[in-house]
Amino acid sequence: MEIIKVENLDHIYKTVTGEKVALDDVSLKISDGEFVAIIGTNGSGKSTLAKHFNALLQPTSGKVFVENLDTADEKNLWQIRSKVGMVFQNPDNEIVAAIVEDDIAFGPENLGIESAEIRRRVDLALDTVGMIDYKKFSPSKLSGGQKQRIAIAGAIAMKTKIIVFDEPTAMLDPQGRREVLNTVKKLHSQGLTVIYITHFMEEAAAAEKIFVMERGKILKVGTPREIFSDAKEIKRLGLDVPAPVELADRLRSKGYKLPKNILTADELAVELKKIF
Ligand code: ADP
Ligand code: MG
Repeated sequence: MEIIKVENLDHIYKTVTGEKVALDDVSLKISDGEFVAIIGTNGSGKSTLAKHFNALLQPTSGKVFVENLDTADEKNLWQIRSKVGMVFQNPDNEIVAAIVEDDIAFGPENLGIESAEIRRRVDLALDTVGMIDYKKFSPSKLSGGQKQRIAIAGAIAMKTKIIVFDEPTAMLDPQGRREVLNTVKKLHSQGLTVIYITHFMEEAAAAEKIFVMERGKILKVGTPREIFSDAKEIKRLGLDVPAPVELADRLRSKGYKLPKNILTADELAVELKKIF
């Protein structure tokens, strides 16, 4: 069943200098429980699209539905926001409280949920992101990856069904990136719908489906294997391919007989063992 449906969505920003078409006739569907990645160069419209998923923006034309709720209908706003959580690039902009547990309790408190239930939700959310031991910590003492996991826990405590991540690892070191991606994979395995914007192609390769954006349009949709099998096309767009795909490509051009559809380091290792 589809949980998000976008139909012929245009988004035009009005600026002092004129109009900027950020989304141009975007249509897509995302299924309940799906893990999708959105990739595309800077300015291709990824963040604008993300903000339509929880009605932070309104369509200039076209429609966006979240579980059949029209995001253009003001009556649906509260319900849509309670279904769709957002995690942005900079966790420092999202963490509001001086103690981790208070920060996670903040959202549910605003919903008027009773305190015993809030405590249960805080513990469950912290446990899910592997941060239960940091409940009483000050967020300022945490690493970037830990802070981002606290931001994710905030969304989990709201019991959202969908979490939209807009380049959540862009400011993190490799360790922090791994922590966040592992958390995202876990949420997906627990049934959450994940929409994950990234410019790290290894992260996009972890999704079930990739949308490739260019100049406000969805240029391609496919599994990671389908999308990255055409390395030249992806590079033409100014994007990278995952390192194992790149390495396999170079080895092939040096005459090594490797199959076309290698995506992961493990797959590359298996194929190389057959050769050497
Ligand atoms: P991405 O996230 O892929 O980098 P964005 O959705 O942020 O792309 O931006 C798409 C286009 O819209 C870009 O050309 C950007 O400059 C423009 N844009 C984004 N936000 C605004 C805004 N608030 N006002 C005017 N133009 C904007
Ligand atoms: Mg962006």
